[in-house]
Amino acid sequence: MIEMDEAAGIGNTDSAIINGLPVAVYICNNEGLITTYNPLAEQLWTNKPVLGKTRWLGAVKTYTLDGTSVSPGESLPAHSILTQTDTPAQQFIIERADGSRKYINHHTSLIRNRQGSVTGVINTLIDITTQKEDEGKQAMLAAIVTSSEDAIISKTLNGTITSWNHAAEKLFGYTEQEAIGKPITMLIPEERLNEEDHIINQVRNSQVVEHFETFRRHKSGRLLPLSLTISPVKDTSGNIIGASKTARDISKQKLAEQQLQHYAQNLEILNSFGKTVAENLDVQSILQKVTDATTQLTGAEYGAFFYNKLNENGEAYMLYTLSGAPKEAFEKLGMPRNTDVFKTTFRGEGIIRVDDITKDARYGKYAPHHGMPKGHLPVTSYLAVPVISKNGSVIGGLLYGHSQPAMFTQEHEQLVDGIAAQAAIALDNAKLYEEIRIINARKDEFIGLASHELKTPVTTINGYLQIIERSLAGTDRNATFITKARVQVGKLSNLISDLLDVSKIITGQLPLSYAEFDLKDLLAECTEVMQQTCTTHNITVEQPEEPIIVNADQQRIEQVIVNLLSNAIKYSPQANEVLVKLNHHNGQATISVQDFGMGIDPNDQKHIFSRFYRVEHVAAHISGLGIGLYICNEIINRHRGQLSVNSRLGHGATFSFQIPLN
Ligand code: ADP
Repeated sequence: MIEMDEAAGIGNTDSAIINGLPVAVYICNNEGLITTYNPLAEQLWTNKPVLGKTRWLGAVKTYTLDGTSVSPGESLPAHSILTQTDTPAQQFIIERADGSRKYINHHTSLIRNRQGSVTGVINTLIDITTQKEDEGKQAMLAAIVTSSEDAIISKTLNGTITSWNHAAEKLFGYTEQEAIGKPITMLIPEERLNEEDHIINQVRNSQVVEHFETFRRHKSGRLLPLSLTISPVKDTSGNIIGASKTARDISKQKLAEQQLQHYAQNLEILNSFGKTVAENLDVQSILQKVTDATTQLTGAEYGAFFYNKLNENGEAYMLYTLSGAPKEAFEKLGMPRNTDVFKTTFRGEGIIRVDDITKDARYGKYAPHHGMPKGHLPVTSYLAVPVISKNGSVIGGLLYGHSQPAMFTQEHEQLVDGIAAQAAIALDNAKLYEEIRIINARKDEFIGLASHELKTPVTTINGYLQIIERSLAGTDRNATFITKARVQVGKLSNLISDLLDVSKIITGQLPLSYAEFDLKDLLAECTEVMQQTCTTHNITVEQPEEPIIVNADQQRIEQVIVNLLSNAIKYSPQANEVLVKLNHHNGQATISVQDFGMGIDPNDQKHIFSRFYRVEHVAAHISGLGIGLYICNEIINRHRGQLSVNSRLGHGATFSFQIPLN
C-alpha cells in the first residue's frame, strides 16, 4: 500500500520515480481511470492509453492463462479497488496494440491518502513471456522424454545416471529409483566395459556417437541388442557436464535381419542343391548333397541317409551318407535297428518329428540298449523323413538329430520333405541311368563276344571258298558263283572286323603298331584297289611329288582311307567322281576325300562320329552299321590327329584328317 497526498494523483517527483523504474507501472484512480504510466508500460502494451479516459487496463485485451477474456471491470486493479486490498501477482496474457501477445505478472498495490482512504491503485506489470515459453518448452520436452518409446537416460561425465525415463524402465527392467544415482556400467556387459571409456571420450570432445549398435544387459542378466545415440549435455555456459543417451531396442530388427539372412542362406543351399542334384546321376554324390543340404537347413547337429535295407537278421538299416559327424560315430555304436522309432520311416508311414525322442512312447522298448546305446551321439530332437520313389517304394530315410530338445520345426519338416521328393526323383533317374549303363555294357560285351565268335567260322568259310575257287578256275561255270560268294563273305568278314574294332575301342584294347611309311604309296594303293572294284565313280588323286613320310599304323590308316573312300562312293549314288587330295603343311600330313553326293546336315555332322549313328533319312535305303566313322575317328585321335567333315546338305561332303609327319 502506498500512501499519497493527492487522490490517485502523483507529483512530479513521483512521476520521475515511476518513469525510472525498471518495470512497467501504471496508476488508476479509484474510478479506474488511468492517470499515469511509465515508458516501459507503453512499450509492453505498444499502446498509449488516454490518461483520465482509459479504464483499468492499458493493453488492448487481457486473458487469463486458460484463455478466458478479462473485461476491464473484472480486472485485477478493479478487483483491488472493489475489495480494498492489494493483490498478489497474477499471471495474464495481454494482447498488445501491434497484435502480438505477452505473458505478464500483474500486481496491484492500493494508494491511500493520509486519512487512509483509497485513492487509486498502482499496477506493476512484469513481462514473463520468455520464462513462460521456456517453461512450455521444458514441459514439452519432459512430455516427449516421458512418452518416448526409446529409452532416454542422462548421466554425468563420471558415469552416474541422472535421469531415467519410462521407456528405460521398460527396456532395462530397473525403476527410476533403482537407476538414478547408480553407475551406468550396471547396464554394460563386462566384455564391453571399454566401450564406455570410448563413449565418454567422444562426449568430452563434444562429439555425438550415433547409432552405435551394441549389447547391454537387462536387470535379469539377459543381453539386449541396442542402437545407442549419445550426445553431450552442456550447461548454460556451454560446459559439458554429462551425456544423454538414447537406447533403441533393435532385437526385432536384428531378428528380421537374421531371418532374412537365414532365408537367403536357405535359398542359396536350395539353389546349389537343386543344381547339383539335377546335374548329377551318381547316387553317392546325390545322397551326400541331400544329407549335407538338409542337415544345414534344419540346423541339425547330424543328419544321415539310411537305405531301406535290413541285414539277414532284420537288424540294421544301411547307413549311406552322413553329415555333421564322422562315420565311425555310427559304426562304433551300431546302426539304427528295426525298432518302432525307425521302421515307421522305412515303411514310408510319414514324417516323424519329436521334440524329445527320449520321452516318446515308441522309444526305448528294445533290448539290449532300451533307447540310445551308451555313448551314442546324443539325440533329443529327432526328425525322420522317408524318401519315397515314384513307384511308391521307400528308397530310404533321412534322419536328423540334435542334442537339445525342440530344435526342429514345421518349416524344417516341409523343407526336408520337399528335398526328399526331389532327391527321390534324382535317385530314380540315377537308378535308371545305372540300369541303362549296365545294359549298355552288356550290349558292348555281347558285340565283342559275338564278333569274336563269328570271326573264326567266317574266316574258315572264306578259306574253303578260296580252295574251291582255285580248283574250279576256268573249268566250271559254278566258279563265278563261288567268286560271288567269296565277295559276300569278304564283306561279312569286314563287318565283323569293324564290330570287333568297336569292341576293342570300348575296352581300350585297340592295338596300334607304328612304323615309318610313305603316305603317298599307301594312298595310291588304296585308291587303286578301290577303283578296281568301283565301276560307278572315277577316283582322282592330287598329291605332291615328294614322299610324305609318317610314323603310323599303316594298316589302320589304310582302314581310315578305305572307309572314307567307300563312304564317298556309297553316299553319292548320283555322282561319278571322288576327289582325293594329299599334302603336308606345318608338320602335318592331310588327306581329304571329297564327294559330290547328298552331303550332311550340320545337325547330323555333330553325331556322325559317334557309335551306331546313322543319318535317319539315308539309313532307310543305304545299308551300314554306323560304326565306320567312329572307328576312323578313334584311329586318327590315337595318332594325335584330327578327323573332320565339311559339308552342306545336297552339296557333297569332304572328310579330311591330319596326322603328324614323322
Ligand atoms: P555307315 O556308313 O555304316 O552308316 P559311318 O560311320 O561310316 O557308318 O557313317 C555314319 C553316317 O554318316 C552314315 O550313316 C551317313 O549317314 C553319314 N555319312 C558318312 N559319310 C558320308 C558321306 N560321304 N556323305 C554323306 N553322308 C555320309
